[in-house]
Formats: sequence, structure tokens, C-alpha cells
Amino acid sequence: MTTAAVSTLESSPVARDIDVVQPFQLDRSNLRGRMVRLGPVLDEILSRHAYPGPVAQMLAETITLATTLAAALKYEGVFTLQTKGDGPIKLMVADVTSAGAVRGYAQFDEDALKAALTADVEAAPVPALLGKGYLAFTVDQGEHTQRYQGIVGLDGARMDDCVRHYFTQSEQLATGIVVHAGLSDGGAWGGGAIMLQALPDEDAGSVASDAKPSDLEDDWRRAMALLSTVTPDEVLDPALPVNDVLYRLFHEEEVRAYDPHGLNAQCRCSRERVVTVLRSLPREEVAELKVDGAVDVACEFCSTHYRFDDAEIEAIYGPAS
Ligand SMILES: [Zn+2]
Repeated sequence: MTTAAVSTLESSPVARDIDVVQPFQLDRSNLRGRMVRLGPVLDEILSRHAYPGPVAQMLAETITLATTLAAALKYEGVFTLQTKGDGPIKLMVADVTSAGAVRGYAQFDEDALKAALTADVEAAPVPALLGKGYLAFTVDQGEHTQRYQGIVGLDGARMDDCVRHYFTQSEQLATGIVVHAGLSDGGAWGGGAIMLQALPDEDAGSVASDAKPSDLEDDWRRAMALLSTVTPDEVLDPALPVNDVLYRLFHEEEVRAYDPHGLNAQCRCSRERVVTVLRSLPREEVAELKVDGAVDVACEFCSTHYRFDDAEIEAIYGPAS
């Protein structure tokens, strides 16, 4: 394979090729894009759990998609991508703060998973592993703000098909997205995605307003054809600089990169938050959770355990009556 003329982009910002969101624009086709490549962040999140391979694979794709979608939004707070279905994987949650903190977890039924894996799930993992259900997008910007939520059925063979379906259904901007995730030769998880979106009218330059609809369609088709050629290695391999990949794929579309930003694996749980949750439950219910003399609460996202002995429970609720 020749990769002649793979030079970095002229406007190449500070290089960062792993755990990164790289925003870019295609000037010729008037599209904006995001490339995400996750390495240690994804590996750290998944290594806190011992999910079976197919569950880890689906969650890796979901977390990667969440970071990509979040990067295309303007928000201050938390973006959440969630799946709920009647298949072996009941639930997946991935959330990303506007500061770039990423976390995620999955809930699954071990027996149902074993049964599902007897069939070939590779070609269509969503119906096989998630079943019928929905995909929800939520933006939470804190108290006193309206929570945005979008929901679409789990319609598609793969996770990125479901996300594309969401954009088609919800009359939003035309969107193309491709995701890949997998284990490296060294056994570490990685994920990568590229997303292309039409610029909203107000952001489009004079080129777009002068363009005939047929030109816009041509631009879109050309860019989608290029996007469809992206290989798993191109989005995943940290040895390939992100800007080189974008140049390789889109140089004819006059690709321009903006400042990248980093992502990190960080949970938002704390002992104080667990205390707040316990306080909201009836004391008798909490007492029933006691094992070996203490209530043990584990964070689903990061598996951190918070233990409360009798004295600490008493400190929360006051002396037992
Ligand atoms: Zn946590």
C-alpha cells in the first residue's frame, strides 16, 4: 500500500494521537467532522469490569460513539448515550462531560448471552445482543435547565447504524458516522470513530448558499464514499497520526483541522453522593443490604466500593429507634 503524499495538515495543531477528539472541516464539501481515537481511556474503563468479550466490544463501541456525538454538541454538563433492550445486554450507559471525563458500564444476563453466542453475532450484533429496545441521547446541563432527550428504536445491525438511524429519524443534520473498536495485539482496548455532518445553514459559507441542491448532494455522496473507505486500523492504530489519517481520507475535500482536545477516564461517584442516595431510601431497606456487618455499595461505572458499618449508618440516619 502506498501512502505517498501523506503529509500532516498544514494547519495541524498540537499533535495528539490517542484519547483525543480531533475536530475538522471539509472546505470543498462544506461538512464538519470529528475523529475520535480512544486507547488507555477505553482500556481503563473496561478493565474495571470483567465483561465477556462481546459485552466489552459493544460497550467499547458505545463509549466511542458517545465521545464522538458529545464532541459535535455545544453543551456544559453531561452527555449520555444509553441502550435498553430485551436481549442479553439489558443496558449500556456511556457518559461524557463537557470537560472530557468519560465513563460507562453494561448490564447483561450471562445465560442469555451464552445462548445468543451460539449463533453468528458478528454480522448483526445489535439484534443478537441488545434485542428490541431503544437508544437514548440525553444532554443534562444541570439544575434549572431543560434536559434534552432524543430516543430512537434499536434499528440497525451495528451500533453506528442505530446512531445514523437516529439522525435520519429526528430531522437533524445529515450525518455519517463510522465506529470501530477492538483489542490491540498487546491486549488493550481501543476505539475510533469518524463523524461527518452538514454545516447548519448559518455556519455554511457563501459556497453553500450559492450551491445548487444537486451540488450539495454530490458533495455529500462524495464525502460519504470517502468515509466508507476508512479501515479499522486507520481509526484505531495510535502509530498512525490522526491528522495523517484525515489527510489520507479527505485531502481532495480540502480538510482543515482545528484544535484537538483530550479525553480522560474519570468517574463522578463519591462517598458523599452515595450517602445522599442512602439517605433517600428507607432505613429498613438499607439495613437489608447489610452483609458481614456493613452495607457495601459499588459504583456501577467504576466498581469502586463504598462500605458503611453500623456507626456510619447511624451517622446518616441517627440512632436506631
Ligand atoms: Zn464510580
